Amino acid sequence: MINTNGQRRNGTNVCYPSKHPPLPGKAENKTMNILYKPEGPAKEYADDPIKRDEGWAANLTKGCVHGCKYCYVPNSMAWKFKGANRRELFHSERVARKDVLRKLELDLKRCNGMSEPVFFSFTTDPYQVGQDNALTREALLLCEKYKVTANILTKGGMEAADDFDILKRNNWKFGTTIIFAYDESRREWEPNASCLGDRDQAVYDAHGRGIYTWVSVEPVIDVYQALRVMREMASYVDFWKVGKLNHGKQISPELGEIEAAIDWGSFLEEVEQSIPPEKLLIKHDLEAFRYAPRPWPNSSCRQLNAHRLSQVGRCDLWQVRKRSIVG
Ligand code: SF4
Repeated sequence: MINTNGQRRNGTNVCYPSKHPPLPGKAENKTMNILYKPEGPAKEYADDPIKRDEGWAANLTKGCVHGCKYCYVPNSMAWKFKGANRRELFHSERVARKDVLRKLELDLKRCNGMSEPVFFSFTTDPYQVGQDNALTREALLLCEKYKVTANILTKGGMEAADDFDILKRNNWKFGTTIIFAYDESRREWEPNASCLGDRDQAVYDAHGRGIYTWVSVEPVIDVYQALRVMREMASYVDFWKVGKLNHGKQISPELGEIEAAIDWGSFLEEVEQSIPPEKLLIKHDLEAFRYAPRPWPNSSCRQLNAHRLSQVGRCDLWQVRKRSIVG
C-alpha cells in the first residue's frame, strides 16, 4: 500500500513516476548524446525519492579500475567487448568517452534549468582511485552552469573531496557505496576501490560541510557487515538505499551461491529495524521478499545467525577518523 507522499504504509520510500511532465521524455532520450534515462533497477538510483523527480544519468568514461568482483557492467550491453577476458579489459583502464564534455554541454543546454537530477554514474565510477578525476569536476561545473542538479555515487572515497565545494554551494547530494564493515572483505571484493576508512571519512567530511549524504548498500554480499555499516554510520548519513545481491549466478558461481543462501526477508526486517523509514529506500528487488515464505527457523536468516555467533568488535569504518582525532 502506497500513500500520496510516495511512501509505503510503514513509511519507507518508493520510486514512482515524476510529478513533472517528462523533460525531454523517452522519445527525446534517443537524441541525447551523453544523458540517458536509466531503466530497471538503475532507475531507482537515478530518481529522487524525496522530490519525486525522475532522473537522468551520465557516464563520462569507459572502464573502471576499481575491479569489483561483483561488477555487472562487463556482462551488460554497456561494455562492447565480449569474450572470456571482458572483465579484465573493463577493469584494466578507464578511458574518457570521445568528446564527452562538448557532447554533455550540448545535452545540458537543452535541459537548462530542469528539475530532474543527473546521476554520475552507473557503468563507471566518477572518482577512481589513482586516476585523474578532473573530468568529473568539469562535468559538475557544466551542470552548475546550466542549473541542472548533479548526484554523485562513488567508491572513490576522498578522491571526491576536492569537488565538495561544488556540491556544497549547489546543495547537491554526495553518495557512496559501502557494503562491508571489514576492509579485509573490501580488499577481496573491491580490490582497487578506496578503503572503507577513506569512504567513511568522505561521507563524514561531506556531512560536516553540510552536504546531503546518502549511502548505497548494494549488492549485499554479507548481511551482517551490511547491517553493521548502517549502525556505525547512522549519525552522519542522511539517506540510505538498500538492495540485495542480484544476478549473482550470472556473474560467478560463488555469488550465485551467496545469493541463494541469504534469507532476504529477514534481512529486510533487520534493515527496517536499523533505519528510520523516512531515511530509507528499500529497492524493489529486496521489497519483493517482504511476504516471501521464510526458511526454517523463520525468525532469522542463516547468514545472520552465523555472523552473530562469530561477531567481534572490530570494524574498519572508523579507523581513519579515530586516528585523525587522536593525532
Ligand atoms: S566501482 Fe562500479 S563500475 Fe567500477 S568496478 Fe566497481 S561496480 Fe564496476
